Amino acid sequence: MADVHRLPTPVVENWDWQRQGSCRGANSAVFFHPDSERGSARLAREAHAKRICHECPVLRQCREHALSVQEPYGIWGGMGENERRALISDQRRRTRTRIGA
Ligand code: SF4
Repeated sequence: MADVHRLPTPVVENWDWQRQGSCRGANSAVFFHPDSERGSARLAREAHAKRICHECPVLRQCREHALSVQEPYGIWGGMGENERRALISDQRRRTRTRIGA
């Protein structure tokens, strides 16, 4: 589950982008893996989801949201779970280096 403390305030402007997503009304199973999914089935499902994302008019907002709340599951903004984790980890490492921690 995402860290809800990182969620934007409940102001319509912070959430309205979700109404424009290309995934709106789509089967959420394309974006979130079932428990037992592995290997090529997972890669194929994720590739399908990312194709939808890359045509989406709110990809940037979706990706920023998923990164800011550190969304742990699913494809958001054309990025998968491992890609988000790697990017967040890299950002933390660079911040620590910059402040000398
Ligand atoms: S970027 Fe992908 S997950 Fe995000 S709103 Fe668009 S289609 Fe949905």
